[in-house]
Amino acid sequence: MGQHFDTKSVHLSTKDTKSIDSKVTPIYQTSAFKFTDLEDLENFYQGKKDYLYTRVGNPNTDELGSAIAQLEGAPKGIATSSGLSAILVGILAIAKSGDHVLASTDIYGGTYQLLANELIDFGIEVSFVNFEHSSEIENNIRSNTRLIYSESITNPLLRVENIIEVVELARKYDLYTMIDNTFATPYLCQPYTDGVDLVVHSATKYLGGHSDLTAGVLVGKEELIEKAKSKVVNIGTNLSPFDAWLACRGIKTLSVRMERHSKNAQALADALRQNKDVDKVYYPTSVSSKGNGAIVSIDITGFCNIEKFFQSLSWVKIVPTLAGVETSVSYPLATSHRALPKEAQVELGITEGLVRISVGIENTEDIIDAFEQAIKLSKF
Ligand SMILES: *Cc1c(COP(=O)(O)O)cnc(C)c1O
Repeated sequence: MGQHFDTKSVHLSTKDTKSIDSKVTPIYQTSAFKFTDLEDLENFYQGKKDYLYTRVGNPNTDELGSAIAQLEGAPKGIATSSGLSAILVGILAIAKSGDHVLASTDIYGGTYQLLANELIDFGIEVSFVNFEHSSEIENNIRSNTRLIYSESITNPLLRVENIIEVVELARKYDLYTMIDNTFATPYLCQPYTDGVDLVVHSATKYLGGHSDLTAGVLVGKEELIEKAKSKVVNIGTNLSPFDAWLACRGIKTLSVRMERHSKNAQALADALRQNKDVDKVYYPTSVSSKGNGAIVSIDITGFCNIEKFFQSLSWVKIVPTLAGVETSVSYPLATSHRALPKEAQVELGITEGLVRISVGIENTEDIIDAFEQAIKLSKF
């Protein structure tokens, strides 16, 4: 080290961390990794050393990708900067200019925008069809179709995808499949084990679990994940080490959160089905023997003033996202599904009185009371 103050102050952080065994993985908050000599540097390119530059790879982001791959029963996974960037690099690993993607109409609003408005600029055509009838999927397959894209539980009306049927159809026509498993999480559903090629997550939701990060994860076959990884590196949609670390911390409590979320959601759906001032309750029945997830949507168009309802929710907050430990509500018509064409909104059932409830982990009775009360106060 140089002897002068201004040199020393730059170089003093020289703690050797090799022999420190911290209980949890430290945050490798670094943009690059150092090398002792040129041979050491060459080791990276020979595959004998893991890390060079954080956009190319980082221990925290690798830990997240690998953790979700293992929970999904897939050989490999990568973490990305957001759920949407994971979807983008997954699609780009499969489809190129001139190819066609067949996607379900009832997908997350942000995904719809990516598929409908951005992929076309990459030369990739997308058509949206109703996945409730596999004949409709089959009738829309073209000679240049490469990929079938859908979600395991859809948003906001909670349709449960028949994954086995989609996989069988894809195999018949030699197509790839990709499923967004954000709402179900690997706790309830593992599409890779049903034969899906790529499974994608917005880790922003249940994997992180505490509404304090934005991240995405993509898992699947080694060869596809390698391709997607080179897209991440070259486009620059890598995840920050700190957000990866937070997501890994969240995953440790995924089981206990999902168990409680599902139990509370089931109880709320049961209670609201008994309430004669609710037109419709959307909550699935066949996701898993462990539960059916944490999202309940209700339609109160016929009985309540929707503005009054949102004003009457006491401690339940209005938030345009989902999956936090706190119960929250969102209004699909004005947020997630705002960009959808009117006909698609009508076809999907995104009405003026549709409320999406992200059920938290609080006391079950308190949650039910909050909604019963808001319905009572907002009745016409
Ligand atoms: C939130 C969400 C996304 C997008 O994820 P971001 O992390 O916001 O980019 C994609 N799919 C589903 C089902 C989601 O809920």
